[in-house]
Amino acid sequence: MLAGGLALKGGTESAGHSTGSADASSVTETGGPRAARKDSPTPEPEKEKDEKEKQGEKDADAGGGKRAGERPDPDSIPSSGPGTFATADGGGDRVGGSARTLTYVVQVEDGIGIPARDVATEVERILADERGWTADGKVGFRRVSGGSSDFRVRLATAGTVDDICGQYGLDTGGEVNCNVGQDVMVNLKRWLLATQYYADDVTSYRALIINHEVGHFLGHGHEGCPGAGRPAPVMMQQIKGLHGCRTNVWPYDADGRPITGPAVG
Ligand SMILES: [Zn+2]
Repeated sequence: MLAGGLALKGGTESAGHSTGSADASSVTETGGPRAARKDSPTPEPEKEKDEKEKQGEKDADAGGGKRAGERPDPDSIPSSGPGTFATADGGGDRVGGSARTLTYVVQVEDGIGIPARDVATEVERILADERGWTADGKVGFRRVSGGSSDFRVRLATAGTVDDICGQYGLDTGGEVNCNVGQDVMVNLKRWLLATQYYADDVTSYRALIINHEVGHFLGHGHEGCPGAGRPAPVMMQQIKGLHGCRTNVWPYDADGRPITGPAVG
């Protein structure tokens, strides 16, 4: 839907076909989670505000110090950008099975100082992880650098995320990610600062963002916590609370068993 919606601000692509299964129009937020893709295409602003208050910029400072390297000064993160993107070049071999291969591109908004290639390397690592979606032995992923692709992972400033998600009627409030059409819009702040539960492990949070959204592309809906002390499913909207579960960012455990929970919504 709204193919035109994505061609914003002089964006390089015009994209837009929906990706078959998943959220042609819903928002899913990652890592956070938002909304229920099936039932309501609209985000839940209140939750976002809560989240914002809970983990906003303050936390980044408060949490006891910054982590060198992984924890930049929140004030140094640009909140808006040109809305144009650079696509990571190169591409990889397929990882995972061959029964269903999804191709994707990785793009980074111009001007934010993070090489698209670096983000691509991280996304590739996440999707190739043995605890990732490929653990089902069927799905595979292959990063491409252009042409048509099944989905796009786009790292952008909060302002640009808001613009793009807003074209679908979503209010990401400068804080959260969204998934619209074939695009996984990753808020630069979340990518760099994570959320409250992952503030000390940004790398893991990035895996949660990617696994959650790609999970939607694979047709997975939201899930709840299966029980106290159990690992939180990646399809759980963890940003809204862990409900007794413990943090987890992978869809499978190291033994190849799926980490799931009761369907929500
Ligand atoms: Zn979601």
